[in-house]
Amino acid sequence: MITLEEIELSSPVEIIYVDNFKPYGEYRLYNNTITIDNSLSENHKIFTLVHEITHANCHKKECHCFYPTFNKTICEYHAYKGVLLFVKKHLEFRETFLQEVQRVLNIGMLWENHAEAMTQVIKLLEYKELLGDKL
Ligand SMILES: [Zn+2]
Ligand SMILES: [Zn+2]
Repeated sequence: MITLEEIELSSPVEIIYVDNFKPYGEYRLYNNTITIDNSLSENHKIFTLVHEITHANCHKKECHCFYPTFNKTICEYHAYKGVLLFVKKHLEFRETFLQEVQRVLNIGMLWENHAEAMTQVIKLLEYKELLGDKL
């Protein structure tokens, strides 16, 4: 089973852990760092980190979600797709991923870009293969 340390090593930027950090994690452009809520469970830290590392990689490779103009929904779509592809390789996280999908869709009113991005992710073939029609 993959560990948090292994994922940390794959990060292109520095990771900072802060207790009770909301909302769970953040990739900060201005100082090129990732901040993660240290109070999360190990599984949830792994998920949040994979999501934020995808943002950092998008920025690093000048992905169209950042350039020429920042598009929040496309950025979140890429990040959740990154998590989906991670779960495809590490099937033991399938149930946790399903819970995360439900959580994001349920708070959609407050987190419009995330919910919109997740709605697109659950339409992907990879998602269907992984979780069928489960939401
Ligand atoms: Zn991107
Ligand atoms: Zn994000």
